[in-house]
Amino acid sequence: MAGEPTAPVAPSLAGMPGVNKAVAAKLAKIGLRSQEDLALHLPLRFEDETLITPVAAAPPGVSVQCEVTIISSDVAFRPRRQLVARAQDDAGDLLVLRFLNFYPSQQKQLQPGAHLRVFGEIRHGFFGAEMVHPRCQKVEPDEALPQTLTPVYPTTAGVGQGTMRRLVQRALTVADLSETLPEALLRTHKLAPFADSVRLLHQPPHVEFGESIERVQQAAWQRVRFDELLAQQISLRRAYVRRREHTAPRLPSTGELTNALLTSLPFALTAAQQRVCTEIRQDLAQAHPMQRLLQGDVGSGKTVVAALAMLQAVENGYQAALMAPTEILAEQHYLKLQQWLPPLGIEVAWLTGSLKKKDKTAMLEAVASGQARVVVGTHALIEDTVSFKQLGLAVIDEQHRFGVRQRLALRQKTIQVETTSGAADTAGPTGTAGTASSVHQLMMSATPIPRTLAMSLYADLDVSVIDELPPGRTPIRTRLVTAARREEVVARVHEACLGGHQAYWICPLVDESETLDLQNAIATYEALRTELPDIHVGLVHGRMKADEKSATMEAFGRNDIQLLVSTTVIEVGVDVPNATLMVIEHAERFGLAQLHQLRGRVGRGAAESSCILMYAPPLSEMARARLKVIFENTDGFEIARHDLQLRGPGEFIGARQSGLPMLKYADLEDPVLIEAARTAAEAMLRDYPDHAERHLQRWLAGAEELLKA
Ligand code: ADP
Ligand code: MG
Repeated sequence: MAGEPTAPVAPSLAGMPGVNKAVAAKLAKIGLRSQEDLALHLPLRFEDETLITPVAAAPPGVSVQCEVTIISSDVAFRPRRQLVARAQDDAGDLLVLRFLNFYPSQQKQLQPGAHLRVFGEIRHGFFGAEMVHPRCQKVEPDEALPQTLTPVYPTTAGVGQGTMRRLVQRALTVADLSETLPEALLRTHKLAPFADSVRLLHQPPHVEFGESIERVQQAAWQRVRFDELLAQQISLRRAYVRRREHTAPRLPSTGELTNALLTSLPFALTAAQQRVCTEIRQDLAQAHPMQRLLQGDVGSGKTVVAALAMLQAVENGYQAALMAPTEILAEQHYLKLQQWLPPLGIEVAWLTGSLKKKDKTAMLEAVASGQARVVVGTHALIEDTVSFKQLGLAVIDEQHRFGVRQRLALRQKTIQVETTSGAADTAGPTGTAGTASSVHQLMMSATPIPRTLAMSLYADLDVSVIDELPPGRTPIRTRLVTAARREEVVARVHEACLGGHQAYWICPLVDESETLDLQNAIATYEALRTELPDIHVGLVHGRMKADEKSATMEAFGRNDIQLLVSTTVIEVGVDVPNATLMVIEHAERFGLAQLHQLRGRVGRGAAESSCILMYAPPLSEMARARLKVIFENTDGFEIARHDLQLRGPGEFIGARQSGLPMLKYADLEDPVLIEAARTAAEAMLRDYPDHAERHLQRWLAGAEELLKA
């Protein structure tokens, strides 16, 4: 695909002493491509081989080193084939060494009379003191002990600990460990010198009794973590600055259309909505592209904010596009905008993959001619056939739902859009890399991200947060019941529907392709239809045709259907305020973010709403923890914080892994350090660009390229 960044040619360690091609490939797989990478490959832990422990003095549960002489060694066959050696230390205490798997070379090493240092945990069993699978090293009597602790490195199949140790050891002497931070920043942030820190982390000095290795290495860890975060921040900020160098059409607010919409709405904006609207309004008036993320919990009212932004573009004679990840969601937006915009004299076009050819042609025509000022759709919006007359603003809802590829395609599309449409009529030359014109972008997300994580992950974006729900919502009551009480739950559904309200019944569908789950949803639908003959039950799932799906959703919206059985396709964005009951079957199989999103489908009107989480015991530890969190919390940010704690940042970020290099050493839950790195990154980019460049090289090397997506 033209314009897609080509994968950078990864350097490799092949040809370095002791590294053949196969080993180099294995090292590259775990991200080790240069001597610098190896030097930054820090140990997981240490083993203390600086001491010899008498067999009789070995504490339980701790690995120790003993020095012994082999008395006898035999292959035993009971209970299974194993190598058993009897040995004795200086004090005359016996130690049995047992190997369940062994090589002939080990058998040879354990010849009677051999003098060995053995490392492992001693258990005192029926046959006395015993070590299973000790690490053995043949030594001369009186051979000197190592002075430093022995590092244990993360490694990969085919590269043994010994090899890894040798490679790292060597890297420490040849790698460039020179300082990348300017003196001034080292002082401001009270940072230990880089090279010393790295060496200390690989080879800590012998720690005295009562002194912990963590304490000794504290400042060194701090330095490395700071540097890692700094690289991330520099990289993200640089991407931000680069995009800011592009020009974009100035779209100052005239208030003409936006005020008309505000007047026509049956509600007033919340203070939070007003605040984010102001932020967006100011961005759009600038001559460089807005790159803003709008975060707001489920139901916080992001759609109207997007509509106001789009109207501001329209006020300036530009078009605006709104892209959503699913047909259902796109259609919801379309219906809402159809309510709001045509009365203001604005035509809204609608583009999805499932449109009939004739309708699609008409829509494409309306978009290309500029007749449609606002365009709503799915990925269909970024297809090659779509060309805008004058696109000024692209809004992306549930942006985390779009994969790396699609986000990339979108950016390319937007760029392609302006160049083909001639919309880039603002100041500055177009078409050259540095100053190309772009459209403004507003990304929206209902997946709340804790503040620290947002700072770290979204340093390439400006972030607006709607931190308040519209008034008049009654809190949702959440109940946990076991699947055994299904009948009661069905009775509750019945009651709610007869009372004039509507309900959802969600069946888990981990993967849309899992036939079994699908069958389960269909079976549930059939069962509920039989059990509740006097109410209308509908079914939606991901395998249905788009028009069937939207027909069902529309019927639900009109209250022609009272109970909607669904797989998780309705998870995002569906807005039917009359629905007051949410039943989630097998709630234990859902993630926290999903549960929160699903629960957010109810509680959208004035009536009291409930969410019933059905689960099938026994629960795993993790599932129990998740259900506890969702039961006890309603605030999306609070739930996200727990989610982060339960899963750790790596998994939590999931969808955002748009090439963002994972942090190996730094902790995303450390706001102080992240804040410091952020400040330093700005200073580096501003005052020390060469240092910044070198710093990035050290930490990110090839990964940077991907980040530009
Ligand atoms: P989300 O942020 O989850 O996308 P929506 O934009 O779908 O939320 O808004 C949820 C519901 O709240 C919609 O019915 C919307 O019209 C309504 N709404 C939005 N803002 C307000 C407000 N300030 N006061 C009352 N209702 C509002
Ligand atoms: Mg929404």
